[in-house]
Amino acid sequence: MRRTVGVLVMEHIAVGLVEGAKVVGALNIYPQKSQTLDPLQSMPAESIVECVRQQVEKVANGAEIAAIGIGFPGIIRAGVVEDSPNLHQVKGFALQAALQAALASALGGKAAGVPVRVFNDADVMAAGIAATQGKLHQLTRVWTLGNGVGFGRYPSSEGIWEGGHSVVTLDPKENFCGCGGRGHLEGILGRRSMRMRFLDLEPEEVFENARTGDARCAEFVTLCHRALAAATATNIHMEGPGMFFVTGPDVKFIDILQGSRFEVVPTSDEMGIIGAAVNADRATQ
Ligand SMILES: [Zn+2]
Repeated sequence: MRRTVGVLVMEHIAVGLVEGAKVVGALNIYPQKSQTLDPLQSMPAESIVECVRQQVEKVANGAEIAAIGIGFPGIIRAGVVEDSPNLHQVKGFALQAALQAALASALGGKAAGVPVRVFNDADVMAAGIAATQGKLHQLTRVWTLGNGVGFGRYPSSEGIWEGGHSVVTLDPKENFCGCGGRGHLEGILGRRSMRMRFLDLEPEEVFENARTGDARCAEFVTLCHRALAAATATNIHMEGPGMFFVTGPDVKFIDILQGSRFEVVPTSDEMGIIGAAVNADRATQ
């Protein structure tokens, strides 16, 4: 069976060896201890590449690898990070070519010549969900809830796909989105925007207060669910019906009604690693 390496760059770098829809062996995580600040934010693009290269060599451990897939936050086109809202230093960076070159020139490197493919991080989550649920034959879409709101789609398809910036309200006061746009889904459901809206409360407190009857917080929680439903409906009008998944560190905020078209999937590095590997495998066969 073909073995591939999956890499997920999402606040940290997680790398694993993948066979079929399973991680084989232990994951490699950088940095090993979780830090309060996002360690990748202050890392130059070249250092990120070198770090990924080292992890890939470690995980592959001399085994024959068919492809290497990377899930990376931002707009990815033809292996280039066109934009990355949280990692500004990689804007315009040809990540795929840089990693390919680093693997080729590493002394004693075993992964030289193995094809590398880069995908959007939410897209690899969608691919990981599709692969682990045995749904590689159908359209799978996912919302990833965290600091920002990502939209992932399997099969991966070149494009912008910034579904998190779907307009869900025309209220001119809704201007909390990190991109500066008005009425965007991320401006309501993103953690960063929740902090700007409730300067006195952490997002966890907002949802807790809503449960205990605080009117302002309860109104906001309703708005969150309506916004997610609206952005989902917009996408269904563009791409057709089908299942939507919700994942990410802040998926706990969302209450899924029974019988709705949403399914919650706990966030994990494995899911993204499997998705990156599966996407790269399909793109290079
Ligand atoms: Zn926006």
